Amino acid sequence: MAEIRDDALLLRRIPYSETSLICYFLTAEHGRITVMARGARRPKNNFRASLEPLYDLQVSWRTGRTGMGTLVDIQRGCSLLQPALSLHGLELLAMASRLFQEGDPQGFDETKAALLLLAERGQHQGLPGAVWFLLDVAGWLGDLSHCWQCGREAEQIMFWQHARLVCGQCGQGMPVSMGLRKSIAAVVSGGSVRLSAGDVDSWHTMIRQLLNEHGIKITGSL
Ligand SMILES: [Zn+2]
Repeated sequence: MAEIRDDALLLRRIPYSETSLICYFLTAEHGRITVMARGARRPKNNFRASLEPLYDLQVSWRTGRTGMGTLVDIQRGCSLLQPALSLHGLELLAMASRLFQEGDPQGFDETKAALLLLAERGQHQGLPGAVWFLLDVAGWLGDLSHCWQCGREAEQIMFWQHARLVCGQCGQGMPVSMGLRKSIAAVVSGGSVRLSAGDVDSWHTMIRQLLNEHGIKITGSL
């Protein structure tokens, strides 16, 4: 079987038998992959220390006849987040694991960009920014300058109803000002913005409803 090498992010690892782990990676060139790390649960196994989420990884694997490949080598590079942010980073990985499935070409660059946004902007702006970005690249969001119902250009005040941005003709709900819509766009594209406490609350509410709508649980922080 061919051996493949690629940059990767570890999404999840789950125990398999007494000694092994099944690992889900997002890779730069090969999308999402599932590989068996044989022996990785043994105390002195070489894979064990390197199989960590939130690090730059380089993995080598052999493709399997039946789908699941076998991990051959793993090199751990730099940490992607400071320790204080790692819980939020893990939440983003859990989300990415839901959004990007095997066979999807995308996922690696997007998840890395989300983690970078969190690393640079911190919990207050970076976390909602990263979640919003991931939902957007996964195709779950409309564009903030139009009504998601009728498609008309956005008015000064729009509304958030059933996890959708709508104009006054199409619905009612929590008001979403033009300022907030611009701030969201700016944070997501990496700009530095001053968001009022009220705007942060509104944005968090929008995200919570979106995640609810799609059955994604994020624990606590949003
Ligand atoms: Zn409308």
